[in-house]
Parts: sequence; structure tokens; C-alpha cells
Amino acid sequence: MVKIEIDENACVGCGSCVDDCPNDVYEMDETKNKSKVVKEDDCMACLSCHEICPSEAMEHKNIHVAKRLYIDRRVSGILKKII
Ligand code: SF4
Ligand code: SF4
Repeated sequence: MVKIEIDENACVGCGSCVDDCPNDVYEMDETKNKSKVVKEDDCMACLSCHEICPSEAMEHKNIHVAKRLYIDRRVSGILKKII
């Protein structure tokens, strides 16, 4: 299961992860003005929050990256020549 940790010292309270997470994993802690994890089990490990967080405040553990099922034909053609 994915484990998410937020470094409260790094979080600047911008709310981007709260707004953009497709599964509403985060909420704002209005008292601290920091993001907090409220639905960790719903995380699908898309890592979009890592892309948008301006301070790299969150860390995801126990992620298993799925095998890629699609490769562009042009890329696969190049790979066949060099492998
Ligand atoms: S990895 Fe994706 S689903 Fe998980 S908390 Fe970040 S944005 Fe939400
Ligand atoms: S995107 Fe990063 S800095 Fe902004 S609220 Fe979320 S954890 Fe904090």
C-alpha cells in the first residue's frame, strides 16, 4: 500500500496538491496552513502532486511502477536496431 508523508517544514501551504489530486487524497489543515493526507488508500500513485508541488514537500513510499504496455512504433523500431 502506498504511504505518503508530507514534510510540514517544506510545505508552503499553496494548496496545489489539494486542488489537483484526482482522488482528493489531500486536504488543507486550515490551522497550520499546511496540506495533510486524508485519504491515503485512494492514492493511485500517478505522482501528479510531485509535479506541481513547488517545494517537493511530499514523499510517496511503496510505489510499484506498472510495466509499460505501449511503445510508439517509431521508438520500438529504433530499439529493435540497437538491442
Ligand atoms: S500520486 Fe496522484 S492520486 Fe496520489 S496523492 Fe498524488 S496526485 Fe493524488
Ligand atoms: S503542493 Fe506542496 S507546498 Fe503546496 S500545499 Fe501541497 S504539499 Fe504544500
